[in-house]
Amino acid sequence: MINRYTVIGQPIAHSVSPAIHHLFGELTQRRLHYTRTEATTETFETIVKDWQSSGGKGCNVTAPFKELAAQVCDRLHVSAKLAGAVNTIEMHRDGSLVGHNTDGTGLLRDIEKNKGFNLAQKRILMVGAGGAARGTIASLLSSKPATLHIANRTVKRAEELTNLFEHLGPTVSSSYQDLSEHGPFDLIINATSMAFDDQAPPLPQTVLHPDSVAYDLAYSANSTPFLDWCKNSGIGKTTDGFGMLVEQAADAYLIWEGVRPKTRKVFLATSDIINSVAIEQRAAANNGTAS
Ligand code: NDP
Repeated sequence: MINRYTVIGQPIAHSVSPAIHHLFGELTQRRLHYTRTEATTETFETIVKDWQSSGGKGCNVTAPFKELAAQVCDRLHVSAKLAGAVNTIEMHRDGSLVGHNTDGTGLLRDIEKNKGFNLAQKRILMVGAGGAARGTIASLLSSKPATLHIANRTVKRAEELTNLFEHLGPTVSSSYQDLSEHGPFDLIINATSMAFDDQAPPLPQTVLHPDSVAYDLAYSANSTPFLDWCKNSGIGKTTDGFGMLVEQAADAYLIWEGVRPKTRKVFLATSDIINSVAIEQRAAANNGTAS
């Protein structure tokens, strides 16, 4: 039997999750089929339930549906409960949907284990307050940073997150404009979806110091507008979100298949994976089809 999975988002054609999970399947000798599914806020719940009733074993959820996914699930694992955001849904035979969030463990593992950057006593700036920020803040605070500052275009959403997580560690919220009174930061994480529009968040230079580390949750075969801005501002340590993507996917795979694949082998194939999806997207554009 082939276990069926999908990733649901909007947009979704760029997602490399199918390539990563098919590689996990080869590495762990499991038969699985993993696709991409585009949704709207109106169609999301029906798509999830149809996937389950047609025999799907689970799905991943990406921007902008992580908070909606938490409402659709029957039960939430502790990783998703506080955040109110789900990126992995486990579909049970009794018809129930269990929501998990592997973004936080994936990000932390990539920063601390893969990149060797210890967060204890560091000053962290989280830019953005959407589903990805919600899902990762508790994990970041578990590493005991000196402070975690959340800045967002809609300040109210940043304030909601500080209220939600302040019992786990020191959190502060502000607008982008008010950031000039705070900073500099040791780690700046871009958790906005602005890369989809080829834009970087409007941050003041004062958030950076020469040894700041810049982490963009977005990923690309080349760079991202946020990482370009950091590099142009003299920051040498920059990384995109591919490592997090692979690690959160491995945690999702563990939930579904009961085994955690060795991610090192996936990193060896990083550029092949990203380029294969870029080629697929170009072919679809040339054929006038949307995937
Ligand atoms: P959401 O849609 O939930 O949140 C989007 C965030 O971006 C909000 O904070 C929003 O601010 C902000 N934003 C969007 N457009 C603008 C704009 N024009 N100006 C200023 N702020 C803007 O998305 P997610 O949180 O789910 O995802 C965010 C990013 O993280 C995406 O790029 C996604 O691909 C990436 N990601 C990567 C992962 C990985 O494994 N590498 C995992 C999860 C996410 P506002 O609240 O004001 O609307």
